[in-house]
Amino acid sequence: MAERFQAPRGTFDVLPGESLARAEVYVAAAELFARAGYGRIETPAFEDTDLFARGVGQSTDIVRKEMFSFTDQGDRELTLRPEGTAPVIRAYVEHGMHKLAQPVKLWYWGSFFRHERPQAGRFRQFNQIGAESIGSDSPLVDAELILMLDELFRELGVPGVRLRLGSLGTAETRAAYREELRGHLHAHEADLAREVRERIDDNPMRAFDSDDPATRAVMAEAPTMLDRLDEADAEHLAAVRRVLDQAGVEYELDGTLVRGLDYYTRTVFEFESEALGAQAALGGGGRYDGLAKQLGGPDTPACGWAAGIERILLALDTDRKPPPAEVFVAAADAERERAMLLVRDLRQKGVHAELDLAGRSIKGQMKQADRVGARRTVILEGDGPAQLRDMSSGEQDEVELGRLVEVLGDRGEEDPGA
Ligand code: AMP
Repeated sequence: MAERFQAPRGTFDVLPGESLARAEVYVAAAELFARAGYGRIETPAFEDTDLFARGVGQSTDIVRKEMFSFTDQGDRELTLRPEGTAPVIRAYVEHGMHKLAQPVKLWYWGSFFRHERPQAGRFRQFNQIGAESIGSDSPLVDAELILMLDELFRELGVPGVRLRLGSLGTAETRAAYREELRGHLHAHEADLAREVRERIDDNPMRAFDSDDPATRAVMAEAPTMLDRLDEADAEHLAAVRRVLDQAGVEYELDGTLVRGLDYYTRTVFEFESEALGAQAALGGGGRYDGLAKQLGGPDTPACGWAAGIERILLALDTDRKPPPAEVFVAAADAERERAMLLVRDLRQKGVHAELDLAGRSIKGQMKQADRVGARRTVILEGDGPAQLRDMSSGEQDEVELGRLVEVLGDRGEEDPGA
């Protein structure tokens, strides 16, 4: 026998039963963004490798070990996008969107790729919804984005949602803070996990992410960025908090919140769900005022978030039955083609109509009509009138062939015989 294939490690197929819930998430997001004036942007699935190396940061896990990178036939160094913010900023700069009224508010939905160790809720190809608001440093931008993600989870009914909020200050205050943190880590070097020890110099803040108990004990004593914010950054955070407080959105202030990407400044936040296991993060984001300039564009403040669609679906009860058919057309062998045309006409009128495509007997077709949940079944058996059966009452009426589309095309709200 020929060898069979499986989907590549860390990937998955979305089967019809699961795609319904996925589509509901899409519709909820699209409506939420439309109400807030966000325009949908689509960027390519791959970009220049340097965009991520420079944008996401050389010292991040993503760039160090998780990128699907390749050299194409033209010797270009390309990478399947591991995240959406650097590509969106690349597009903002490339299309001169800084000339538009600011901020430019964009959202996206698509696949992302990271070579991580697969586990429940963690894949190598996964999907994200994301939002970016580019061109204003107002704390209202940060607040609006957080309120929207909170609203999305509420509307979808995601259970056990918690929000953590922090601030990473500006590049300067963070540099001074990092120095102080390096001092703290070096002073306790012997107690740190090897991974953390090796990265004291290039990325000391990632030590807050460690699961190692001894490292966590050291980090519990460490100063946090929140203790070191300058006046302007502290006021910016306070303003974001005032809006959240007034809106009744609860959060935990967390000075250890470190996101896996280097570009953040000031606000950072992460939503989690208690309904998820080890991979509890639903989505998060923050402000990245330095990124556009770093990518060769004008100095442009911006803020955004991304949420994992598979994580949202895992947290929700996503068992959805396919919608039942409105009409099933059963036909004797000689009438099968007529049945196909009737179904076509009904579908054109917006009716969900199905028919047998597997050569079943009339009896078998009635069973199939039950399986697809048909409310009504038409039986075509000859040149005479068709039989129209109401599947719940079992009542049966005759309808002239010429009137079938008219009778069934009214979506069957009234008595078909009337
Ligand atoms: P990040 O940009 O890493 O903060 O990712 C934003 C969100 O995307 C996370 O909170 C997760 O919900 C989701 N996510 C990130 N990486 C993965 C992955 N490998 N598999 C599934 N979902 C992911």
